[in-house]
Amino acid sequence: SSDIFAIYGASGCGRGVMPLAREKLRSRHVPLDHLVFVDDHPVSGVINGHRVLGFSDFLSIDAAQRHVVIAIADGGVRENIAQKCIRNGVGFWSVVADNVVVMDDVVLGEGCILSPFVTLTSNIRVGRHFQANINSYVEHDCFIGDFVTFAPGVKCNGNVVIEDHAYVGAGAVIKQGKVGKPLRIGKGAIVGMGAVVTRDVPAGATVVGNPARLINRK
Ligand code: UDP
Repeated sequence: SSDIFAIYGASGCGRGVMPLAREKLRSRHVPLDHLVFVDDHPVSGVINGHRVLGFSDFLSIDAAQRHVVIAIADGGVRENIAQKCIRNGVGFWSVVADNVVVMDDVVLGEGCILSPFVTLTSNIRVGRHFQANINSYVEHDCFIGDFVTFAPGVKCNGNVVIEDHAYVGAGAVIKQGKVGKPLRIGKGAIVGMGAVVTRDVPAGATVVGNPARLINRK
């Protein structure tokens, strides 16, 4: 038996990742019926030409190895699913679009998704299960934690630290931090779409607007 590959999440995010995954596997000569969606609440048996399986069905398919990439925008959901995969001996793979630009000394954790037109410049560390949606960039000397999500068009400038589970909305701009004093987006913070972040965002906070201001604390 051979390996089977899955996109976990058969909704908007997953459907955006599937074509990138298909292209990647085609170049590795993996048969396309070995690429499936997994979803805990499947609404259809087939989506965009690929089977949709529940997790237990995915586990019972005959396969040498199972590989999952979690394509769900909610970082908390991604973490729960990642733990479930680990408990069941399922491995992770990353999906990186062909035209992504990655420069020098970039270290990416497992299970990341880099959509088309993403750029990561130099000297960047990224944790597990990062999602950078279309047209996002990360500039030099940034540290990004685990289960961080960038919606489309996020502009993350240099010397920024983004802690675990932060969510950055579409088109947000994060100001460059300083060497030795990075701009910091705290754990689980939410940056609203189009926000212009000019200073640190506390853990769990939501900020919106230009300049970005706090609207609540969790
Ligand atoms: N989902 C899942 N397991 C979970 C939570 C969500 O399989 O524990 C699936 C859910 O059934 C849906 C998808 O993940 O198909 C999430 O879709 P949604 O449109 O909410 O988000 P997006 O695709 O934009 O991340």
